[in-house]
Amino acid sequence: MADPVYDVAIVGLGPTGATLANLLGMAGLSVLVLDKEAGVFPLPRAIHFDGEVMRVFQNLGLREAVLERARPGTQGMHFVNAAGETMLIRGGTAALGPHGCANNYYFHQPELEALLRDGLARFPNVSVRLRHALEAISDDGDGVRLTVRSLDDDRACRFSARYVVGADGARSLVRAHMGSPMHDLGLRQPWLVFDVVLQRPVDLPDHTVQHCDPARPMTYCNVTGTRRRWEIMVMPGDDREALLAPKNLWRMVDRWVAPDDATLERAAIYTFHSVIAEGWRRGRLLLAGDACHQTPPFLGQGMCAGIRDAANLTWKLEAVLRGRAADTLLDTYESERAPHVRELIELAVRLGGIIQTTDPALAAERDAKFRAGAPEVFELPPQALGTGAFDARGGAPAGRPFPQPRLADGRLLDEALGRRMAVIGRNGTIAGVSAATHDRWERAGAIVIDRPEPCIADWLDAHHADAVVLRPDRYIVGVARTAAELERISQWVPAAP
Ligand SMILES: Cc1cc2nc3c(=O)[nH]c(=O)nc-3n(C[C@H](O)[C@H](O)[C@H](O)COP(=O)(O)OP(=O)(O)OC[C@H]3O[C@@H](n4cnc5c(N)ncnc54)[C@H](O)[C@@H]3O)c2cc1C
Repeated sequence: MADPVYDVAIVGLGPTGATLANLLGMAGLSVLVLDKEAGVFPLPRAIHFDGEVMRVFQNLGLREAVLERARPGTQGMHFVNAAGETMLIRGGTAALGPHGCANNYYFHQPELEALLRDGLARFPNVSVRLRHALEAISDDGDGVRLTVRSLDDDRACRFSARYVVGADGARSLVRAHMGSPMHDLGLRQPWLVFDVVLQRPVDLPDHTVQHCDPARPMTYCNVTGTRRRWEIMVMPGDDREALLAPKNLWRMVDRWVAPDDATLERAAIYTFHSVIAEGWRRGRLLLAGDACHQTPPFLGQGMCAGIRDAANLTWKLEAVLRGRAADTLLDTYESERAPHVRELIELAVRLGGIIQTTDPALAAERDAKFRAGAPEVFELPPQALGTGAFDARGGAPAGRPFPQPRLADGRLLDEALGRRMAVIGRNGTIAGVSAATHDRWERAGAIVIDRPEPCIADWLDAHHADAVVLRPDRYIVGVARTAAELERISQWVPAAP
């Protein structure tokens, strides 16, 4: 029997690859996932994700399961100076934000990754091969051949796929094969990450604390349950080995916790990078997650960016593989995602520069600004797409995510819309378009709503519009005031010939 040709092969089953595999599995595509390791990476890395990411987890059917393991970021962040004085408080809230989810969540990365992997068992069309390391790739234009080594028996195997996504992390082999250069955005700094599990109640804050002490900048975070983390800057002249010695680790946090109070889960030194690749697609090869961008974690956005990549890529791969769109649609992946990723990295670098201040005079200047409330470095850039598959002519809200209100029947909007394009109109805009456009919507498998609920009507009012077209990733294609405008923006709806 001939080997199957998978629709998509994903290299790497970290959070990016696992999210993408779940999304493509839901889309009914045949997917091969390879990872060289046997299990999830055991050491905690990410501890925060945002509301848009939770919405993606919802859309892959795991909202409730994730909510059981993640806590909303209700407590916010306090900036404290060397004297222990609180200079600025960034409040948190459990209230649902625009995505129909809390704006921030805290979690334990290995638990989330295990959940995403378990989620794949729902899809007979997704085949996972663990302990299989990619060794070589060749894209012959019609498809991709992957040479893979099974690490259990040291056997070489070959697979074929129509597209390959390298979600294989910072040292991506797929990226190396594609020859996509990485641009350094300026921050490269070692930090010690120290995770503990409390063994008894300890008087530690529920909120995150940025200890802006120029002698040793540190971040403290209440992760989930009894897990607590300190991220501690490695200072020039530090002896890394000595720094990691348990006696020294506990000494650095002895103001707050003692070895009798908690067990050390792990301590490791990471060098935080700020890099972005140029060339996220070459032919049938694509990159996602840390394989094409890495950010210092000061905004807690590295994994979030990989999950946004997965959501952006899924509906495009589906449209192309189902013959609804030309494969040039995949070119919009980098042009849409890269500007937002770059902005976030640049912001994290700026915030890092502020938190990492080690010069006492500069620190005093910074503290004065903090007291004056200087908040601009903390405002995340709007989730806006760069140029791509939407009607950019009218500017925002096109290219921005559509909110996710709760509908009268109790469902969240995305549950009602499903994984497809959506056309929502009123006041005759739907009836007013041509038969050809109705036909296009039908060929695209779009859901068409001509009597929107009040919560959506309110949104249309606020945008002086009578119709809106949404992509399956819930970004806005465009808004229309008339049937003619709706006709025009519907050209962005990919439809089978
Ligand atoms: C200390 C720290 C704190 C962080 N905090 C946050 C945070 O709060 N919020 C946030 O959003 N992000 C945070 N991040 C970033 C986040 O952890 C990463 O962005 C995320 O793990 C990247 O996921 P990924 O799936 O793209 O890559 P990875 O998790 O690196 O996964 C890549 C996978 O590819 C596999 N692989 C590699 N090469 C091959 C090969 N040749 N063949 C087969 N398989 C291969 C690997 O085994 C691995 O499983 C933090 C990172 C660190 C280090």
